[in-house]
Amino acid sequence: MNPRLLEAVAGAKSVAVITGAGMSRESGIPTFRGEDGLWNNYRAEDLATPEAFHKDPLLVWQWYDWRRQIVCNAKPHAGHFAIADMETCFTEFLLITQNVDGLHIQAGSRKLIEIHGSIRRARCTRCEWRGELPDVGLESLPLHCKKCDALARPDVLWFGESYDEGLLSRAAEFLHASDLVWIVGSSGMVSVPVFLADIAARSGATLVDVNPEEAAFSHLCDITVRGTAGKDLPRIWNTVRPSTGV
Ligand SMILES: [Zn+2]
Repeated sequence: MNPRLLEAVAGAKSVAVITGAGMSRESGIPTFRGEDGLWNNYRAEDLATPEAFHKDPLLVWQWYDWRRQIVCNAKPHAGHFAIADMETCFTEFLLITQNVDGLHIQAGSRKLIEIHGSIRRARCTRCEWRGELPDVGLESLPLHCKKCDALARPDVLWFGESYDEGLLSRAAEFLHASDLVWIVGSSGMVSVPVFLADIAARSGATLVDVNPEEAAFSHLCDITVRGTAGKDLPRIWNTVRPSTGV
């Protein structure tokens, strides 16, 4: 085991984890980019937008209803459980995930920010209502707000939308004060993990990159593990965990 990693884990008080699509892929969740027959004629980029929803809310809801059922049938893997376990080992902890599938919560993570929202929730387009959705398909679509009856929408960030400033600044603030940051299963093609990794690196945190391939933020990382979220992360965590003293 990398002695630098052991030392970083043993001395860490404030730990953050950033996760991306690689986590979900190992739970068998497809990328929903048109490879399935049912929605073969549609591209995610054409359905996951405010414009598509404005034009045809029923179509967009049907697509999300189908996606949500696939996601609800998936199970968290050992990597999700390793991250949930990390949360119990450090005084300060925050998981920042780009994934909308809710698998981290299912694995037991509680201190988390879903920066792209969750496919398992809806929110009102008019008032502040938010609600959990069932695992099964919805009977009546498009969904309406339980409070004011206006049109509801999936509680996710769409292409062309801005990040929730409150969530992003909470994440940035935490990373600013972190001393150990894991980046797991994130391709770095999206600019936010790069932005967040940069904050942590500038603040002097030890950055650990757990990805099968080099990512856009890899040059900022102190420790590199070319491995997967589902196999290598739990293997490493189970080896270094005793050094946390918990
Ligand atoms: Zn409402």
